[in-house]
Amino acid sequence: MGLIRLTGKKMFKLNGSIPAFLFPKYCTFDSLMQHQMTKKIKVRDKEFGIYLTAEQIDKAVSNVAKALNHDLKGKVPLFMVVLNGAFMFASDLLKKIELDNNISFVKLSSYSGTRSSQVVRELIGINEVVKGRTVVIIEDIIDTGLTMKRMLEILNQQEAAEVKIAALVFKPGAFKADYDIDYIGIEIPNDFILGYGLDYDGFGRNLPDIYKIID
Ligand code: 5GP
Repeated sequence: MGLIRLTGKKMFKLNGSIPAFLFPKYCTFDSLMQHQMTKKIKVRDKEFGIYLTAEQIDKAVSNVAKALNHDLKGKVPLFMVVLNGAFMFASDLLKKIELDNNISFVKLSSYSGTRSSQVVRELIGINEVVKGRTVVIIEDIIDTGLTMKRMLEILNQQEAAEVKIAALVFKPGAFKADYDIDYIGIEIPNDFILGYGLDYDGFGRNLPDIYKIID
């Protein structure tokens, strides 16, 4: 069984044997997993607990990729990655896409604190011609759904042939819009989460797992 070193927040896989006198600093894989299940982190002024592991996220991403590869076979979609939050989801998802495609990175609304902003800004960064294309919007999370609603309006104005939505996380309890979400990785209750691209006041985007706020 491999030994894993826990040094505060970081974990490193070690190769080779470990001197016995260092043992308090190490733990077995099983106890690491137990530690992970209860792992808590502090980001700015808030505490977060582990919610979805990188492995669970990867499964969800694979499911979305599989469905897209199946449903869009023979088409050349334009993937529209909504920055900033969707960058990690998009990176993992697009590596699993087997279709000819183009990718654009776009930006819409700002989000600060732990409540969804009601102010939705204009879409910036579309470099491709949208008219007549199959567009797939790649979004990190759909909460109230208002950000996505605005995106759909803009893409319809630009005469996309069809627009599909692929969201890693969906909060049905918070959803206030009336469109269908074509591809959903994971449905969650109405909690504030961070990690895997999602931030809290600009922090925590690089975390490989997703954490939930502890009230
Ligand atoms: P909506 O317009 O659907 O309410 O919100 C969409 C945007 O709000 C997402 O793209 C994301 O940036 C942000 N957001 C919504 N819920 C959460 C959350 O639980 N955590 C984080 N970090 N951002 C969220």
